[in-house]
Amino acid sequence: MQRGWVVVRVTQDLRQLVRTELARSTGAVGEGCEPHVFHVQNVALPVMVRYWSPAMFPISEQRRCMRVAVIGGGTMGIGIAHRFAANGASVIVVDVDLATAQTAVSRTVETLTTAAARGKLNPDDLDGVVSNVHAAASIEDLDIGLELIVEAVIEDVQLKQSILAACEARDPVVLASNTSSISIDELATGLSSPERFAGMHFFNPVWAMHLVEVIRGAATSDATLDTIASMVEFLGMEQALINDAPGFATSRLGVLVGVEAIRMVEEGVAAPTDIDRAMALGYGYPMGPLMLGDLVGLDVRLKIASHLASVYGERFRPPELLKTMVAEGKLGKKSGVGFYDWTSGSAVPLQEL
Ligand code: NAD
Repeated sequence: MQRGWVVVRVTQDLRQLVRTELARSTGAVGEGCEPHVFHVQNVALPVMVRYWSPAMFPISEQRRCMRVAVIGGGTMGIGIAHRFAANGASVIVVDVDLATAQTAVSRTVETLTTAAARGKLNPDDLDGVVSNVHAAASIEDLDIGLELIVEAVIEDVQLKQSILAACEARDPVVLASNTSSISIDELATGLSSPERFAGMHFFNPVWAMHLVEVIRGAATSDATLDTIASMVEFLGMEQALINDAPGFATSRLGVLVGVEAIRMVEEGVAAPTDIDRAMALGYGYPMGPLMLGDLVGLDVRLKIASHLASVYGERFRPPELLKTMVAEGKLGKKSGVGFYDWTSGSAVPLQEL
């Protein structure tokens, strides 16, 4: 994957101009290179254009040396496996048992195949990429000395701690957790090499999102942070480095808005679609907090809010409506219904909750 920044003047065919510029500056043929315009200050002024094209170059042998294990093959584990595999790493997914891990691998292969069909992955690389994603029955089956093990199981402190201890016994260069809210220092309790442990908080869907929120624990070493920074670059992503505190930056702010939006629905202040439209159009959010909650998973939201309430108190207390919806199996997109009806594959407003 090649990424970078170019500054161009607006013309009638901006995309073509950027393709030409990329071909000139990288020596690559512009075919398959889709510039993404992130910020247009003024049509009369120079604009910043970000180019991102995983399809431009074949995956090198050097990239195939990266060996990664992902523990937990759910929404996030599949996304993390996809992103590493698409960039040339070999990936092993572990879940509660081999059959569940194999299902996660099958779903990862599906998302990679879709990416190739959409030109996000070089179709010539697809077979090699897919053959590099495997399932394992348990953490004990992982090779010693992998470059990275990322834990992405459900948001539960004790479960994560015991899984991290088992992972540490496989002596990875870096051990990371994808927790959304739990303190990295709390998770590091019981690790014998906490200097090699940090948070790597990915966002859903991982193949489309470009941020890794990197959490520096009290014991995390600079060498570990440097290695993580190079891995983030390997993935064609960018990092925000945050000192450890429950919820970090993104969940602490995002969940606060999310639970308040649910309280507003509960109180009859407005319908979900109006709250979401208000924040999207009024505040420039890419999507409203209720639709985002449906995408994240309301069960995941509830666990994060509960954990943050246990640390920060009342302001994160999960609303009764959230608890009721989760108890009724209304988990958002993954269950087909949440604040929206997702059975058609996209969000359709519900008449009643
Ligand atoms: P999920 O429920 O979709 O997946 C969790 C996976 O963990 C499941 O496949 C489950 O079988 C597996 N698992 C449970 N116990 C296990 C064990 N003992 N050993 C191995 N695997 C086990 O959850 P998710 O949405 O993928 O979230 C995973 C983590 O990522 C959580 O910490 C969550 O807070 C965080 N996170 C979630 C999102 C999101 O948008 N969903 C975003 C960022 C971070």
